Amino acid sequence: MPDIRDFCERLWNGEIDTIREAHPIAGMWNDRQPDEIAEGLLYYKSVASANTLDTGDGLVMLDTGTEQDAEPLFEGVRRWRPDAPLAAAVFSHHHVDHVFGVNRFDAEASQRGWPRPTVYGQHQIAQHFDRYKRTPGYNTAINSRQFLRPGMEARSWLEWPQEFRYPDVSFESRLRFQRGDCTFELTHTRGETEDAVWTWVPERRLLCPGDLFIWAVPNAGNPQKVQRWCSEWAAGLREMAALGAETMLPGHGFPIFGAERIRQALTDTAELLDAIESRTLALMNEGATLDRVLHEIELPADLLDRPYLRSAYDHPEFIVRNVWRFYGGWYEGEPDRLLPAPRAAEAAEWVTLAGGLEPVLERARAHLNHGNLQLACHLIEHAAAAAPSPQVHALRAEIYEARAAEQESSMARGIYSFAAASSRQNKRDFYNP
Ligand SMILES: [Zn+2]
Repeated sequence: MPDIRDFCERLWNGEIDTIREAHPIAGMWNDRQPDEIAEGLLYYKSVASANTLDTGDGLVMLDTGTEQDAEPLFEGVRRWRPDAPLAAAVFSHHHVDHVFGVNRFDAEASQRGWPRPTVYGQHQIAQHFDRYKRTPGYNTAINSRQFLRPGMEARSWLEWPQEFRYPDVSFESRLRFQRGDCTFELTHTRGETEDAVWTWVPERRLLCPGDLFIWAVPNAGNPQKVQRWCSEWAAGLREMAALGAETMLPGHGFPIFGAERIRQALTDTAELLDAIESRTLALMNEGATLDRVLHEIELPADLLDRPYLRSAYDHPEFIVRNVWRFYGGWYEGEPDRLLPAPRAAEAAEWVTLAGGLEPVLERARAHLNHGNLQLACHLIEHAAAAAPSPQVHALRAEIYEARAAEQESSMARGIYSFAAASSRQNKRDFYNP
């Protein structure tokens, strides 16, 4: 097991690759054994981080992991501090990789006759838990797509939870509480989510930004999920950058140590979000169609090259679409798409005009062989929608496997892998014919 400070040093210097070796949402670190990274501070890294402070008067946990983390996190904390009650926990937002670790401590509190930990969160967490309860099938489907790994079978492999631990204390924009020798300053900033909260502990110079910083291009574009807020996010990052934090424990990815590095990481991320938003808006203000915006926008390549801003998870082009949706709507500016025919009917017209299926498949194969995968995907999608035969699906699976393999963004890779895996079952999508 590498020393975590040494690992973080090499990560910062770009010697460890965030796409292949230290993906921010991979739960590979130390087999879910927490590390004491400073006196009285326990860092636990799984899919997301969960960070426990010993305040001298009970423990406070900043984010709490997934359902699968609940037991190992509890055991790790109890090996470290066997008898200090968990006094409080802060949820940085409602996502399921941050909110399930408290239940185990609730159970402990009732066994040991302690008061239940107080959970703090922004008030909109409750309505997002309610939204999750209304959309279990949708969330199962989209996450089964998003997180599918190449080679896996297409199926409903993620069970969406239905029970949530709601916060005991919620707030609108700012909240401060004291415990032992620590002050916890909670600030709400709309960013990845509507309810995002970051926490600053001045006595420890400790900043927990939640998912507002994740060692990758911000998750501000996720194609299957609800609205994200770029410029408010950037403003929040700048506010954090001014604090002079010495330790930052991101929602995903690894700690950053040192005030100058933390300031740089936060400021660069803010600059990236602002650049994508303002450049998208400039084209929208010309009346551009979404097609023009996507293909004419100049993305800030220098920033996207930083070790902490690479497209490991989300994709910058998805962020452009998110800005389009926020300031505009769903209409792309393509009149034939406003009230379209069924995809199969449209595809059948093109295939007929092409002279039948054979030339379409031949051309798709040629694009695959030449590495023109975008065009290969368009052609094979028409073929599969018009004539979903095993022969068409065999080629389609090959094309999307190749497309997945060239993606740095694991979100894009998951969705393409799901399309390929669905074609192995003679479907364009596992959930659809
Ligand atoms: Zn997260």
